[in-house]
Amino acid sequence: MTSEDLAGKTAIVSGGARGIGEAHCRALAAAGATVIIGDVLREEGEALARELGDRARFAELDVTDREQWAECVGIALGAGTGTLDILVNNAGINQPTPIEKMPAETWDRVLQINLTGHFNGIQAVIPAMRESGGGSIVNTASITAVIPPSQLAPYVASKMAIVGLTQIAALELGQYGIRVNALQPGYTDTPMMKGGDEAAITSAMPIRRYGRPEEVADMMLYLVTRATYTTGSVLPVDGGAVAGVGYAV
Ligand code: NAD
Repeated sequence: MTSEDLAGKTAIVSGGARGIGEAHCRALAAAGATVIIGDVLREEGEALARELGDRARFAELDVTDREQWAECVGIALGAGTGTLDILVNNAGINQPTPIEKMPAETWDRVLQINLTGHFNGIQAVIPAMRESGGGSIVNTASITAVIPPSQLAPYVASKMAIVGLTQIAALELGQYGIRVNALQPGYTDTPMMKGGDEAAITSAMPIRRYGRPEEVADMMLYLVTRATYTTGSVLPVDGGAVAGVGYAV
């Protein structure tokens, strides 16, 4: 891939200030795109924007807030060549609690951010992407949608639902030249995974380590730049975590 691949293109990354989202922003900027870093973390987002230079901007974005999505799209259209070509729906939270003890607010909040946040993003970019002649939307599912762990009810429900949302959006938006796919990351070394026992967690996996955020971003770049005949798909980046689950190694 050359650094020219995304020259003249503009991207929004939700939850772009740290973790996997930060890696998405770095990868898109390195490929020549103008990048809007949408996040609730102003300090981290602005620092990353400064580091990435002229073509990066921070936008205050709580993905549950439809007005902020509209503002973010406006910033994107004003920041680059006047098009909006890429949306990476990445923002997500995880609040492990058993169902028995889960406050209703936890259930609501995780679904609002993880699932409705994705829906809000897709809906917000459609007019600008249609105007731009098409685009690529990359959502963020998870291996937990395939092998669900306990205590993550709203997280797993949101990630399974993102698979369905991805398929329906692909069905409806293909006519406008908009492709919609989802990443399915496995254990990835980010603040979300802090405190886990990496050796124990990865001991039965073909690749016995956490993934790096950059490895997830590489798959995002592939979907955006190369996968021109791929839409409605879910692509694993999981070190083989799903392979052979339930069998002794
Ligand atoms: P992270 O916690 O390190 O980063 C998440 C980012 O989203 C943060 O910058 C945070 O401020 C932002 N965010 C949270 N709520 C927001 C909101 N309401 N509006 C806008 N931004 C918001 O997590 P991560 O590990 O980088 O996860 C990124 C995505 O990848 C998430 O969707 C997560 O579910 C998914 N994922 C992560 C893993 C993993 O092992 N780390 C595995 C599978 C899927």
